Amino acid sequence: MNNSLVVYNSIKGKKEIFKPILPKNVGMYVCGPTVYSNVHLGNCRTFISFDLIFRYLLHLGYKVRYVRNITDVGHLENDADEGEDRISKKARLESMEPMEIVQKYTLDFRKTMAKFNTLPPSIEPTATGHIVEQIELIKKIINQGHAYEVNGSVYFDVIKFNKTTQYGKLSGRKIEELIHNTRVLDGQSDKINPQDFALWKKAEPEHIMRWPSPWSVGFPGWHLECTAMSQKYLGTQFDIHGGGMDLKFPHHECEIAQAESVHKKKPVNYWLHANMLTLNGKKMAKSTGNNILPYEMFSGQNNIFNKAFSPMVLRFFMLQAHYRSIVDISQIALEASEKGYNRLVAGIETLEEISGSSTTKGLKLNAWKKDCYNAMDDDFNSPLLIAHLFDAVKFINGVSSNKYQISFQDLEELKEIMNSLFKDVLGLKRDKNKAITSERIQLEGTVSLLSDIRDKLRASKDFETSDLIRNTLLKLKIQINDTKDGSSFKIN
Ligand code: AMP
Ligand code: ZN
Repeated sequence: MNNSLVVYNSIKGKKEIFKPILPKNVGMYVCGPTVYSNVHLGNCRTFISFDLIFRYLLHLGYKVRYVRNITDVGHLENDADEGEDRISKKARLESMEPMEIVQKYTLDFRKTMAKFNTLPPSIEPTATGHIVEQIELIKKIINQGHAYEVNGSVYFDVIKFNKTTQYGKLSGRKIEELIHNTRVLDGQSDKINPQDFALWKKAEPEHIMRWPSPWSVGFPGWHLECTAMSQKYLGTQFDIHGGGMDLKFPHHECEIAQAESVHKKKPVNYWLHANMLTLNGKKMAKSTGNNILPYEMFSGQNNIFNKAFSPMVLRFFMLQAHYRSIVDISQIALEASEKGYNRLVAGIETLEEISGSSTTKGLKLNAWKKDCYNAMDDDFNSPLLIAHLFDAVKFINGVSSNKYQISFQDLEELKEIMNSLFKDVLGLKRDKNKAITSERIQLEGTVSLLSDIRDKLRASKDFETSDLIRNTLLKLKIQINDTKDGSSFKIN
């Protein structure tokens, strides 16, 4: 255990020393996916960020209860209280039962996260499995005078709550601004004020996901499930709550209001928010179509990148950025990460081959180890940790070329530290990937040679042979394109 871990607490807007409620235990809740479609790579980034945090806490010796829910009801199309339930809509469009949709995409999510070598959470509760808890929580909020019922639906009274407890402290929004910015109710809504949010909604006849409650046959609001499930498994006050930056408002703000209205204390000590993955400079999102799916990256079958990237290269690419920074994915950045990843793996392999000697020259092992841990202790700074691992790789290569030396004892220690930081903390693996990349390198080299030969054939006007090469490659799904600047190729 160490006492020097510092985390950036979003609700305070600054870094703080991490001190869990119980000295050796950590309770962490992270908002999970809404399982109505395949997770895109942006979603994966958030879950990989929290996997890094989970792994480092475990590495420090904490016993962590990591709860990550599955949203399988209540998340409406527009993130607010209107529109169709995302899962019901997909079920309707695909002529399937809502629970078939939930099962299909939950399995996809787990399979994808396993490919990225993320550890499963300790508990993975579903919203539909906790309807009873959500109804009980609504009753308590009503009893405290913070919610009201209209026509079978129940709404949280934001204005009234704000009279005694500040609403907006996480996202920094002021109630006056919210009132100013939200549109006036059009008379269709049952809400007293447009800022209010649904705790329970009466189901329209066509709404297929429905449960009985004291107010109506209906379904719970999206924000409610996370309050009900986090307090059930972690208590009414727990250590860490995480999620993507885009969930700060309204989702997490509403979670705080729900919990504080009943328990009169802050539900969470540290709010951690992971930043977004962007594509072409814009947030990757399901709704805009600006996204790419993990398996499209692994197979290379997409129109955005001209080659496949393995799960470990993608994980490494994401960890090369700090979890609170925005990352834009691009061919150039991914290729650089692939090279870096291969260099790191090669370094670890060389480390197994080098032999020790009487003394160490070229590395101050203790100082280097301290730098590695200082990086992670400073709000999980994985890019800085990776930079230190590269320093070690330089040293290892130096030992291999007899420029530096390492003592027998330091060699054993360096092996242990490198492996545990690479495998346990960063969650990287070096299995199949290397074989894939070396085959790929051979393939690309061969195609590049054929392409050069073809250019020569074309220059000497041997179009028959040059077409033979091009058409044969095309049958193998390798496409050669001739441009005025020369030829390029794409391997599908
Ligand atoms: P959802 O399934 O829409 O509830 O989202 C699941 C998680 O993915 C949430 O924590 C979101 O904040 C996160 N997320 C959505 N889009 C992105 C993105 N482009 N980059 C990183 N995280 C994202
Ligand atoms: Zn949530």
